[in-house]
Amino acid sequence: MTTPFFELRGIKKHFRGKVTLAERILSAVGQGKPAPVLRAVDGVDLSISHGEVLGLVGESGCGKSTLARIATGILQPSEGEVVYDQKPVATLSGKARLDFLLKVQMIFQDPYASLDPRMKVSRIVGEALSVHKLLPKAEIEPAVDKALAEVGLDLAYRDRYPHQFSGGQRQRIGIARALAVKPDFLVCDEPVSALDVSIQAQVINLFMDIRQRYGLTYLFVSHDLGLVRHISDRVAIMYLGRIVEIGPAADIFATPAHPYSAALIKAIPSASRRKRDFQPLKGELPSPLAPPSGCPFHPRCEQAMPVCREVRPKLAEIAPGRSAACHLHTTPETA
Ligand code: SF4
Repeated sequence: MTTPFFELRGIKKHFRGKVTLAERILSAVGQGKPAPVLRAVDGVDLSISHGEVLGLVGESGCGKSTLARIATGILQPSEGEVVYDQKPVATLSGKARLDFLLKVQMIFQDPYASLDPRMKVSRIVGEALSVHKLLPKAEIEPAVDKALAEVGLDLAYRDRYPHQFSGGQRQRIGIARALAVKPDFLVCDEPVSALDVSIQAQVINLFMDIRQRYGLTYLFVSHDLGLVRHISDRVAIMYLGRIVEIGPAADIFATPAHPYSAALIKAIPSASRRKRDFQPLKGELPSPLAPPSGCPFHPRCEQAMPVCREVRPKLAEIAPGRSAACHLHTTPETA
């Protein structure tokens, strides 16, 4: 097995729920209930090899964007550690920490919100280079032009502002900004979901082109399993803050091991698929403030057994390189 290039070890991110003034007063006199805890990410282990594309999939609210922010250092985990190039990120300081923050870049869902509307494109793309003095001043403009050309933007646009671009062009600007600092690892959080379908394919092709050109590694977060299927080497399926299945993309799509993965696959719209094969996902994602007992998927699972209401299944290897958290594959004793 190759040495992991990037690891998330036992990551948890819990947020305290809001407490009213009356509840705070009751708490102060020992009568109140503890503040509710939102378990956005509840114990995730992931490792990514150099040059790999790992797709992270789940419904909105499952914790995947929180996990992406923890991976890039934007959010700190409540528990667990992020390991980059075999070094725990929390132990990095000074230049080593800055190197991590530059080598791991994030591409955001909303390209417009992620660009400063008061800055010209050339300044947006060159900002990190000049703020962190990564290049001599005279070399910054050529580096900006190179990054803009890499993403297929006309250099005549370099003095325009973000509002003068289409959604697809804005996402290209976001990618150029990331490329300018020569990253190793791109964490892409729903990077095409805000774009028109016709533009999505162009931006996905751009991601794949720059992966080839620079040997980049990706964590590609999306609720769109159909999209992730085409670009990922491996896929991790997330449900209520945990990974419920992970393995090679082709294997998961051919024979999903977890009923949630199977339900997501059946819900992918397809022009060629017969109508009866398409089944929208039933039910709603439960609140992470009050997750169901046992297997958190049991209220929606057509294969739920009595044990599923009582015992939470652990993520366990079911075949080489493939793991699932489901009692269909583990005995209650090992769960
Ligand atoms: Fe369904 Fe039980 Fe597996 Fe959960 S553990 S996915 S409820 S069969």
